Amino acid sequence: MRDRYYKFSTYLKERFGERVHKVSVDANFSCPNRDGKISTKGCIFCNNEAFSLHTRTGGRGSSLEEQIRRGIEAAKKRFKAKKFIVYFQAYTNTYAPIDVLKKKYDVIKKFKDIVGLSIATRPDCIDEETLNLIESYKNNYEVWLEYGLQSIHNKTLKFINRGHTFEDFLKAVEITRKHKIKICTHIIIGLPYETKDMILETAKKMAHLKIESIKIHPLHIVRRTTLEKLFRQGKYTPLELNTYLDILVDFLAYLWPKTVIQRVGAYCPPNLLVAPLWILERNRVEKELEKRLIEKDYFQGKFY
Ligand code: SF4
Repeated sequence: MRDRYYKFSTYLKERFGERVHKVSVDANFSCPNRDGKISTKGCIFCNNEAFSLHTRTGGRGSSLEEQIRRGIEAAKKRFKAKKFIVYFQAYTNTYAPIDVLKKKYDVIKKFKDIVGLSIATRPDCIDEETLNLIESYKNNYEVWLEYGLQSIHNKTLKFINRGHTFEDFLKAVEITRKHKIKICTHIIIGLPYETKDMILETAKKMAHLKIESIKIHPLHIVRRTTLEKLFRQGKYTPLELNTYLDILVDFLAYLWPKTVIQRVGAYCPPNLLVAPLWILERNRVEKELEKRLIEKDYFQGKFY
């Protein structure tokens, strides 16, 4: 039977005919929301130690080439993958002069098994020159730009200190589409003061924009973040797994059926996670989601 939502693994098999694995790298970028250009505080949930495998494992010290080589070796052993997409994950991966960007992205050319390039950034850190550069990789690679948006609601974006607006995202989508580069949007479910209706408005907007791909994350509290302080002061309570699933099945039902779902859970190293602990059970989240979709007879795009 067909999956009830359009999984990234399915998309990759359709596109490449075999298993493709994403290798995450930390290319030593900074972020304008941390280095003082926009703010020094960062997003309230952000501790890049938790987001980036290589930041955790000393990637900031090892060269990009070394990180890719190690990532490929590990994925070959563990997943029997033969092809790879390099994912520039940590911090803001378009936030540097163009020659620096080119030098970093060009490292993928040294590896014959790399078939794709995925670049994570902020919607306010993109321009024509950078898009021209990224577009140039399309001749030989599958290319994605991943925009952290989290919510379409500006009052939420302000509260979580994103330092950009939903309108910035719309502008980024518009100029990215002129270059025919695929977009993956990062969304968070469970942000402070967001109701279920507000979250579903985000889903409906993504459907309306026919965003090519989405990563959906449950908000979780990581050590050494502003969100941790709010949690300790009793000002923020994370979602229970049941509530998350309840929102998630509806979220999927409102999406465009062709949007590829790259994630429905989150990863956080146990020593950095404060709450909720169900975040650590990634397989359980996926299994419970499947169950819930079947019980309700919901599928992606049901309400599109
Ligand atoms: S934009 Fe990304 S890297 Fe920068 S503070 Fe926010 S989550 Fe962290």
